[in-house]
Amino acid sequence: MTGTRWLAEYAWLPDHTEPTADVLIDTADGRITAVTPLAAGSDPPAGVEVLGEAVRLPGLTLPGLANAHSHAFHRALRGRTHGGRGDFWTWRDRMYAVAQRLDPDSYLALARAVYAEMALAGITCVGEFHYLHHNPDGTPYADPNAMGAALVEAAAHAGIRITLLDTCYLTATVDGQPLAGPQRRFGDGDALRWAERVDAFRPADEHARVGAAIHSVRAVPAGQLAAVAGWADRRDAPLHVHLSEQPAENDACRALHGRTPARLLADHGVLGPATTAVHATHLTGADLALLADAGSGVCLCPTTERDLADGIGPARRMADVGLPLSLGSDSHAVIDLFEEARAMELDERLRTRRRGHFSPVELRDAATTGGHAALGWRDAGRIAVGARADLVTVRLDGPRTAGVPAVGVWFAAGAADVTHVVVDGRTVVRDGRHLSVDVPAELASAIAEVTS
Ligand SMILES: [Zn+2]
Repeated sequence: MTGTRWLAEYAWLPDHTEPTADVLIDTADGRITAVTPLAAGSDPPAGVEVLGEAVRLPGLTLPGLANAHSHAFHRALRGRTHGGRGDFWTWRDRMYAVAQRLDPDSYLALARAVYAEMALAGITCVGEFHYLHHNPDGTPYADPNAMGAALVEAAAHAGIRITLLDTCYLTATVDGQPLAGPQRRFGDGDALRWAERVDAFRPADEHARVGAAIHSVRAVPAGQLAAVAGWADRRDAPLHVHLSEQPAENDACRALHGRTPARLLADHGVLGPATTAVHATHLTGADLALLADAGSGVCLCPTTERDLADGIGPARRMADVGLPLSLGSDSHAVIDLFEEARAMELDERLRTRRRGHFSPVELRDAATTGGHAALGWRDAGRIAVGARADLVTVRLDGPRTAGVPAVGVWFAAGAADVTHVVVDGRTVVRDGRHLSVDVPAELASAIAEVTS
């Protein structure tokens, strides 16, 4: 691969509280090889020449955004769960109905379109929390990892990286009721059989890695938590878990186990530096300390938590005890990491009736380095020499962003303002168009296939 020279009107460099004007960024073989700020009005420094050959990136160029929590098939539910007002069960019934309809071919088509929508939004890496493993009756496909393979292939088509967080999902309730109806295809029987299946899945593709997930303390019995954590540990893989998304989960866990879900996870060796707790909305102070002591992180999914009426996670308290934060669009009620990032701040304002909780750099880091680290890609999410060549350019001359200073994008821009996306040195989106996927057309046909 030959190198490319980019000239960003503004670029947001690590350790800078604000974007820098006029930055040359050289990339080669999928990596950033040089970052050269051109002081305003000065000539390029020695060794920097052929400015005319640089690809100009008007607007603000950010590092790649990471969507650390996704269930790709939930995208088919967008706008379909609010009829008759729509309660939580309306949403869950619709979700299960779509889950019933998918097979490896239709899931490839749907996920390819969803991941391409993510690319258009500036997302260069997705963490797919994947539990739709088997045939609808629970029997394995001829290739027991056919659904996971479809997701990995979908990410390749869309031009983004994926961490497939293969999810252990065994029971319907905290007290161990068996999976029934639409849930049957989620289960592997027990954690050892889950591990055996996942162990056999080793995609060679450079854009993919495999991690583990525990669906929740509701869906994995306490006695089997350590087996999943042990697998992740042996493979040095990320481990994600839905944690305390709703108070009912806390109540059921306390009733059966006499402790909170976070305490239960800690007692079974699930919390560690590679662990990311997803949501973590209803935590006690002691729960926060457990996560902090273990070095675990939290993935907030504010637009989904809003859509499902889960509540507001204690984001500032998490940051204050040192938990690394990341962001996910989860149910894809919207796919917009700018919206997720500003919700970190704006939801705290609603809760506290006070402004000023997070700096723009903290929002940037949750959407970029934080997410990539949670997904096991520690060499991504920064515009710095040696990092993966992910560049996301946001226009500053559109109807939402005109007149906005570059530092203000987290409170002004949205996914529709992303004009240019480079992933591992390859241009995936140019002038707001995905170069290989007709996103609206493919979303429409893939969703019609599973909802009609
Ligand atoms: Zn989720």
